[in-house]
Amino acid sequence: FNSFPVSTSSLSQELSGAGGAGLIAGSVSGLGAESSEVTRRVLYEAYTEGFRGRNVAAVGKVPLGLKKKNLRIVVTGGAGFVGSHLVDRLIARGDSVIVVDNFFTGRKENLMHHFGNPKFELIRHDVVEPILLEVDQIYHLACPASPVHYKFNPTNVVGTLNMLGLAKRVGARFLLTSTSEVYGDPLQHPQVETYWGNVNPIGVRSCYDEGKRTAETLTMDYHRSLGIEVRIARIFNTYGPRMCIDDGRVVSNFVAQALRKEPMTVYGDGKQTRSFQYVSDLVEGLIRLMEGDHVGPFNLGNPGEFTMLELAEVVQEAIDPNAKIEFRPNTEDDPHKRKPDISKAKQLLGWEPTISLRKGLPLMVSDFRQRIFGTPKTLIGGGATA
Ligand code: NAD
Repeated sequence: FNSFPVSTSSLSQELSGAGGAGLIAGSVSGLGAESSEVTRRVLYEAYTEGFRGRNVAAVGKVPLGLKKKNLRIVVTGGAGFVGSHLVDRLIARGDSVIVVDNFFTGRKENLMHHFGNPKFELIRHDVVEPILLEVDQIYHLACPASPVHYKFNPTNVVGTLNMLGLAKRVGARFLLTSTSEVYGDPLQHPQVETYWGNVNPIGVRSCYDEGKRTAETLTMDYHRSLGIEVRIARIFNTYGPRMCIDDGRVVSNFVAQALRKEPMTVYGDGKQTRSFQYVSDLVEGLIRLMEGDHVGPFNLGNPGEFTMLELAEVVQEAIDPNAKIEFRPNTEDDPHKRKPDISKAKQLLGWEPTISLRKGLPLMVSDFRQRIFGTPKTLIGGGATA
């Protein structure tokens, strides 16, 4: 994992041994010190555009009749909540997907509908150990995302280092799913990407917050010093079907409690705010980021802002108007406010969320009801429309 300048030789050889694609490597050689990044970008684009040497005479347009090559993509953490919805989208558009997951919080059930599809592979593997795979893109999601779990398994730094190492080795584009937690308890509202945050480095949440901040640093260092193609998403609270039940995240907590006729637990006075994004909006943003030209970081979240008490009301509307609320002392370092400024994603990715909380929540409730009580699913999946 040393930060030596990247060698593009293996990729160049693969390309130059393959029809006219060798022209690409030749055309970018001899550009001097800044050439490493240029070379890598050109090679990457050629590689993913399908110039693997078959029937390609020259760089430029894909000859008529030749289909664009489908990509081979690894999704770490693909058995989890967000990852499994992302896998659905990638498979649906025709790509080959390899999921790497240790099932710490993910479930095979989230992916079982792809079993038997030759374009889908599932590997049980912990990303704190290196892995070698031939892929074009890496979506790196593997990391426990809820306080209940991340305190016991802080995988951010080593896992990210291993996946960056893989990106370096095979010349893949790498996308990091970072988090709004990098802003800590923000002193700026709403949060823009240029804000550096207000994070306690030694608190109970620090393994997650600081782990993701370090993951961002590593990602940018690999990009700057080695020319790796990277993308960084800062994800704000996301909800939807397949979320872990009882994992301490506020939406899943409230929904599970209201369904079980237990009081919804509000920590503190309930006036702290969060914004809630439906999972299909996030997946759209992640794919646009990966396919686009901009490194980021980009805030991906829904700017609609709700207090915890307002969220509890929406859950009451969706499940049970008589559901009770129970107040408990606040947890340490719980941020007071959270709301993304998404101007950058709107402008550079042409992305913004389309599904409101009142529209998305019933889809999640239906999934939770089925998983808690085993009742038939009526509305399930990530396919809500605005
Ligand atoms: P999740 O817990 O449902 O999914 C995480 C997946 O990673 C699980 O399948 C888990 O088994 C796997 N995993 C954990 N440690 C691993 C390891 N060492 N090796 C291999 N696999 C491992 O969480 P999610 O909500 O789907 O989050 C996905 C990503 O998005 C995470 O990186 C998280 O930090 C980020 N994120 C999510 C949210 C959100 O609101 N859901 C917000 C901000 C950031």
